[in-house]
Amino acid sequence: MIENLKVEIAIIMRDDEIIKKNNLKRITINTSFGPVHRCYIGKIFDVSVLIIYGRFNGEKVPSNQINFQQTIEAVKNSGAKKLIGTFVVGGINPSMPQGSVYILSDLVGCGGYSINWNQNDSFHNAEMFEPFCEELTKQLNISARKMSFPVKENATYVTFYGYPRIETKKELEFYNSQGWDVVGQTCDPEATLARLNQICYAGVAVQIDDPNSRYDYIKNLKNNNKKEQYVESIKSCRKRTSQIVLQFLKDYKRFRCDICSKMSRKNNNFREFPDEFYE
Ligand SMILES: [Zn+2]
Repeated sequence: MIENLKVEIAIIMRDDEIIKKNNLKRITINTSFGPVHRCYIGKIFDVSVLIIYGRFNGEKVPSNQINFQQTIEAVKNSGAKKLIGTFVVGGINPSMPQGSVYILSDLVGCGGYSINWNQNDSFHNAEMFEPFCEELTKQLNISARKMSFPVKENATYVTFYGYPRIETKKELEFYNSQGWDVVGQTCDPEATLARLNQICYAGVAVQIDDPNSRYDYIKNLKNNNKKEQYVESIKSCRKRTSQIVLQFLKDYKRFRCDICSKMSRKNNNFREFPDEFYE
């Protein structure tokens, strides 16, 4: 519990308006990786929330240098057992235009992952067969259906994580041939870390480009045409994910999830070799 507020839901989201309108209070949450200052707490539609303002702690860095562990530890230290990640992503399917919105149901990891594991903590792998919390995702889906714009449910997010570039044409073609929906750099490790920490996790994403718009943009550069803005303002895209999150908070039905917290493969009996072999 922080500041006499029992946080029900944590949300990773960059939305100045929501913070201002709801008079959320900025607090600092300490973690073993140092303090996280970009935390805002308060009530939205009577739900106690913690909003973490994005994933960068202080400065912008490549995704493999983002301290996801620190952010998840801040969520955990707030007492929140549920977390919603909001994402700005790249489009894969040429028939889905920029501004398309998705509720995530699965992910594919295509990145160079690494983690600094504290050896004082017992180790276990995250069980990621179903990476998103079923109940939290269900509530997001129900609220998303009330939007004035279409929202694609059951979307697959490809995590191209760790290197400072966006996708090549062939990579996008391959992802599309697999039926995957969107690509980004942050949903995982975040999802894995949430699971390792027994936190229910769900995701909502908005697409800021698509293969056609990227093609047109480069064609214009080659033809020396006046460069057209091909990325719809990120701010207006983010508004859509914010709208879904607000509706979700308005509709939110408290629940206790006994599944995500148990989806771990802890082995407390691990020994490097049998005790009898010591002598
Ligand atoms: Zn859950």
